[in-house]
Amino acid sequence: MFDVIIAGCGPTGAMLAAELRLHDVRVLVVEKESGPSPAVRIVGLHIRSLELMAMRGLLDRLLPHGRRRPAAGFFAAIPKPAPQGLDSAYAYLLGIPQPVVNRLLEEHAVALGAQVRRGAAVAGFEQDDDGVTVELSDGERVRAGHLVGCDGARSTVRKLLGVGFPGEPSRNDTLMGEMEVSAPPEEIAATVAEVSRDVQRFWLRPFGEGVYSIVVPAAEVGDRAQPPTLEDFRRELRAVAGTDFGVHSPRWLSRFGDATRLVDRYRVGRVLLAGDAAHIHPPLGGQGLNLGVQDAVNLGWKLAAQVRGWAPDGLLDTYQAERRPVAADVLDNTRAQTELSSAEPGARAVRRLLTELMDFEEVNRHLIEKITATAVRYDFGRRPDGPDLLGRRLPDIQVKQGNLYGLLRQGRGLLLDRTGRLTAGGWADRVDLLTDPTAELDVPAALMRPDGHVAWIGDDQRDLDVHLSRWFGGPDAP
Ligand SMILES: Cc1cc2nc3c(=O)[nH]c(=O)nc-3n(C[C@H](O)[C@H](O)[C@H](O)COP(=O)(O)OP(=O)(O)OC[C@H]3O[C@@H](n4cnc5c(N)ncnc54)[C@H](O)[C@@H]3O)c2cc1C
Repeated sequence: MFDVIIAGCGPTGAMLAAELRLHDVRVLVVEKESGPSPAVRIVGLHIRSLELMAMRGLLDRLLPHGRRRPAAGFFAAIPKPAPQGLDSAYAYLLGIPQPVVNRLLEEHAVALGAQVRRGAAVAGFEQDDDGVTVELSDGERVRAGHLVGCDGARSTVRKLLGVGFPGEPSRNDTLMGEMEVSAPPEEIAATVAEVSRDVQRFWLRPFGEGVYSIVVPAAEVGDRAQPPTLEDFRRELRAVAGTDFGVHSPRWLSRFGDATRLVDRYRVGRVLLAGDAAHIHPPLGGQGLNLGVQDAVNLGWKLAAQVRGWAPDGLLDTYQAERRPVAADVLDNTRAQTELSSAEPGARAVRRLLTELMDFEEVNRHLIEKITATAVRYDFGRRPDGPDLLGRRLPDIQVKQGNLYGLLRQGRGLLLDRTGRLTAGGWADRVDLLTDPTAELDVPAALMRPDGHVAWIGDDQRDLDVHLSRWFGGPDAP
């Protein structure tokens, strides 16, 4: 018997498994592919994800595999320098291939004790008052308290749950892959330079040893459940560039669309959804993986609290209440970026205007903070004149032991107290106390949730106790 079964060992599923293991939750991750996917999709990890990796001690393992680039030029690829005053110790983009992120997250989850079963898909499930019985593609039935669908854009769990997934269908299909090319490099560079002046979503980038990363628009929206063939690439390259560059010996081939959809519900009873299973959007700005990993960190400690029996009423419901608006905002910004990438004269004029507006530092910063998810503020009932920090993430400030995030490895709450008068009392088994009058904080004390968001600000113990109960259950809980 497991506490939680996770369908899918992509970045969302692996991160969620690791977060649950921090609380000793028994986790089984079921992954339909027998080996890791080689598809190199992502631009990189954005600021908020880097902060979360730093919090869990993972950033040092990721850094050697990536390249730091300025936190700039993400919004509709409008080339502007990184804005001043980004309030983070990790104010850069870490360019890193998705297979590396996936592998390191899976290794992290396994090291913490998660079981990963590859080569079996979640094919069905039934839930009752006590748990969920999950049926695997090999016919085995496994029982758990909860099931989380982290099984990507075509999520089986979402379809079986029957929740609505409204939005817009795909209008543009794009082929993407890595393969060898026999045309001379100079000829390729000249053709690409000419064609990409008019054609969006088109590139051939050398990877070394004659291998190229190739992106080319596909004339028709095909069946994305079927991987494209080399012949599809040849045909579309000839249509767009007049030559197929002699492509051969593919490493991997894939296709993606620009559908934009968001689930109506993130939870039905004991079954939840996270990552691409809950939301899909075009890859503009490079946000999907980041959004899924952040879903996982929001959900992990709440589901763990439910399993361990200390979750206050309604805690698990805050997962949807907090994360669905964040996803809706990402969908909206990718819709806006899609319009801004259009070749229509009106859209080009709006793009020129926005490009001018981004010379205003505040506009540039607003857009970068949106894409990098550092602007996220959950609604914790902040009054209009209340402290700005409430509901936001606390940056990695300096404290007497060094950096704050170094104290968040275990995924517990943290009471950061500059007054020296407060205590975590009966919640000390779930919330750590750091008394530090020198902490770089301009409020007397702050209560951080395990996901790093500030849940309370003040200096009054009774008020604090109310908020400890709200987020961490009763004192001396089981
Ligand atoms: C071209 C492109 C570029 C992108 N660039 C970026 C970027 O720069 N930055 C960014 O943040 N995001 C980017 N994305 C998006 C990113 O790749 C996804 O958002 C991310 O992979 C979602 O992670 P996930 O774990 O939710 O889902 P997935 O990565 O899709 O993982 C789902 C897993 O579930 C498995 N699975 C499926 N069905 C089942 C089943 N029934 N049972 C068990 N297992 C199952 C799959 O095999 C897979 O391993 C890009 C996407 C594309 C297409």
